[in-house]
Amino acid sequence: MPIDIPKPERCPFCSYLGGGREWAVVEELESTLAWLPPRQSGRGHVLVIPKRHAPTLLDLEPDEASAIMHHVRRVAHALSKAFDPAGLNVFQNNGLTAGQTVPHYHVHIVPSYPGDQPGRIFSSGEIERSPHEELLVVAAQIREHLA
Ligand SMILES: [Zn+2]
Repeated sequence: MPIDIPKPERCPFCSYLGGGREWAVVEELESTLAWLPPRQSGRGHVLVIPKRHAPTLLDLEPDEASAIMHHVRRVAHALSKAFDPAGLNVFQNNGLTAGQTVPHYHVHIVPSYPGDQPGRIFSSGEIERSPHEELLVVAAQIREHLA
């Protein structure tokens, strides 16, 4: 059975990549991009995506999968130094039934802090959008700690 993915008219991440929208970039590497989604599940919530459109894990080339995980690890280290979280969730969803909402592969890195409910990210409901200026500040704080 093929994985059923969301089908918006246009991929929002490709729209970002094409310069169609503002976004808070943490770091751009050769084939991947780390940036902050406007809805922050925790201060410093980062998404790492391939620059090439690929809907799910099953659509990634092996070298893309490696490049993404390399970037995830790199950002996780910087994020840990920048905000000293008590924990980190790293996850991604493949398919509508798995909770995928954007049809462009992305890995979430979500820091957690003392007092956060374990597993809250899987039932977080509607999160307010953070102001873009605030996202730029957070992105710069993480960037400061990239090795
Ligand atoms: Zn895309």
